[in-house]
Amino acid sequence: MIDILPIQIQPTAASRLAEVDFDHLEFGKAFSDHMFSVDYRDGEWQNAQIVPYGDMAVSPANSALHYGQAIFEGMKAYRQADGGVALFRPLDNWARLNSSAERMCMPTISEELFMQGLTELIRLDEKWVPSAPGYSLYIRPFMFATDGFIGVRPSDSYRFMIFTCPVGLYFNKPLRVRFEQKYVRSAEGGAGYAKNAGNYGAAMYPTKLAQNEGYNQLIWTDASEHQYVEESGTMNAIFVIDGRVVTPALSTSILDGVTRRSVLALARDMGLTVEERRVSSREVMEAQAAGKLNEAFGVGTAATIAPIATIGYQGRDYDLPATDASAFSRRVAAALDAIRTGEGADIHDWMVRV
Ligand SMILES: *Cc1c(COP(=O)(O)O)cnc(C)c1O
Repeated sequence: MIDILPIQIQPTAASRLAEVDFDHLEFGKAFSDHMFSVDYRDGEWQNAQIVPYGDMAVSPANSALHYGQAIFEGMKAYRQADGGVALFRPLDNWARLNSSAERMCMPTISEELFMQGLTELIRLDEKWVPSAPGYSLYIRPFMFATDGFIGVRPSDSYRFMIFTCPVGLYFNKPLRVRFEQKYVRSAEGGAGYAKNAGNYGAAMYPTKLAQNEGYNQLIWTDASEHQYVEESGTMNAIFVIDGRVVTPALSTSILDGVTRRSVLALARDMGLTVEERRVSSREVMEAQAAGKLNEAFGVGTAATIAPIATIGYQGRDYDLPATDASAFSRRVAAALDAIRTGEGADIHDWMVRV
């Protein structure tokens, strides 16, 4: 198998960069000039190219549209203090893409091909990486089936693509969330740990019900008892209970977030006690009642660190204390930002220069 493919580059003749208002970026609405694509056919990846971002033709019978053979990643590139650009833990996203691919009977992609497509795309669209504090270039790698065949079996052909979006903050104020104890996002033994498209489609309806009630997001609970915290939307959930950092342990029903992993590493660096274990909604609400729920927040690439201000539980809302600069969520957000912008020491070797 050939690992390094020559990438054919067709630069755009009409950059859209000047049309974008970098002071008012809405998440996911502005797309950079180019996209990377490579096709899997006859058992190998071929035809790697970078072309202007735009629509493309696919078979109406492809198995991504009908049976959900579609997976994705979400990662970011950051403008560095010295003017350069760096990616945050890209190999973690590459590894997770491949683990999602295996779960969905899709082909894996080599580290070389992933990193080569990614770096060449970002170099070409380097001017799209914002430099204002809190802003970054969101990167969306994804793969889908391309066979024109309507039977239920894994496709023989696939396309892997990457496009990017300059973005600001995902949530701009503290969140109102509620425990979901009826609907289920994923079950033990299911595909909740994979970033496959179907997980998100099925979560939209229960999320919309909660949004109609004035919440931003749900906190999913486990499928069998509806008691144990899973995660929140596209974020992992972290609580600070009586000074300890507590988060649900990973399982086949929880997505193994790169932000979660990073926040836990920084918590340990700060000398805090970290507990990865089962966390019940009852434990969280009892801690709240006793004044011991110091903080709750969601963590994810898009949302970064999103503090939770209110938690709905069994029909009532409970407020969390306001956080100040000494709160763990604030300190860890600042530490992560410093690493991502090159202003702080990258002691874990997380950043990869483009
Ligand atoms: C992507 C995602 C996360 C966060 O993962 P990161 O790697 O931190 O971005 C958490 N939960 C779900 C369901 C997700 O899709």
